[in-house]
Amino acid sequence: MRVHVFHTGAVCVSPNLPFGGEDCNPIKASGIFQKRSERIWLPVSAYLIESDHGLVLVDTGWDRSMSPNGTLDKEAQIASLGSRALYLTNQGVIAKGMAIGEQLAAMGIKPQDLDYVILTHLDCDHANGVPQIVGARHIVTSADELASINKNVMARIRYQSKWWEGSGLKTFDWNGTEGPFHKSYDLFGDGSIVCIAIPGHSDGLCAVRVSADDGRFVLLFSDGGYGEKSWRELIPSGIANNRADQMTSLRWIREQSLDPKCVESLANHDQKVKPHVIEL
Ligand SMILES: [Zn+2]
Repeated sequence: MRVHVFHTGAVCVSPNLPFGGEDCNPIKASGIFQKRSERIWLPVSAYLIESDHGLVLVDTGWDRSMSPNGTLDKEAQIASLGSRALYLTNQGVIAKGMAIGEQLAAMGIKPQDLDYVILTHLDCDHANGVPQIVGARHIVTSADELASINKNVMARIRYQSKWWEGSGLKTFDWNGTEGPFHKSYDLFGDGSIVCIAIPGHSDGLCAVRVSADDGRFVLLFSDGGYGEKSWRELIPSGIANNRADQMTSLRWIREQSLDPKCVESLANHDQKVKPHVIEL
């Protein structure tokens, strides 16, 4: 097993978003009243798992249409996201060659070579890049996540189905009882790649655990936290759908990360994590 950690550009957010804490309000964390100079840039990660069952991609990052020339492009972003409001909270830049489709192509990998694409959740910085991997054999997210996209006004602003329309996105139902909410989905039925429900940031958010035969594992906890500091100090991000669930998920991420068999525990947007390859 091998896990490639990619950076597929960056996202400009309020500094209150990653480590805003339990008392942070959503307006403050969204940064909509904050100048760009007061904001911070975080990486947007995606992961390629080389497994015995084939290639599995986790998340897609931004689409090239967000940043056609590799620079910040307001009008292109509003068009790509399909929303002016989302542009205000999420601005992205992807240098040339860094979009996930471009990085895979540089490795000689076509979308058709991907057995699975797992979307840990459907936020724009994870699902806006789906058009680059259309043709993958299976593109999946949790049924809980897809069910939440129209649940209220906030959700209808947050999620735009145009990102994955026509991609053949399918949902999976939990088929196991692992994790803090006893909801998990074993992708191949052998425990090698398991999606584990860690709701809070979004309703259907999942972590992906990649395990070797000897029990050593890598935990990709997506936006369940924003770095090691999140789980070490139990500091939640500034925005949550459900604070109580978010904290329950974060405590579980901490427990897993401290497990001696945990080789690496990675947040999607950790500034301290650089692109690298993990051999399991
Ligand atoms: Zn994210």
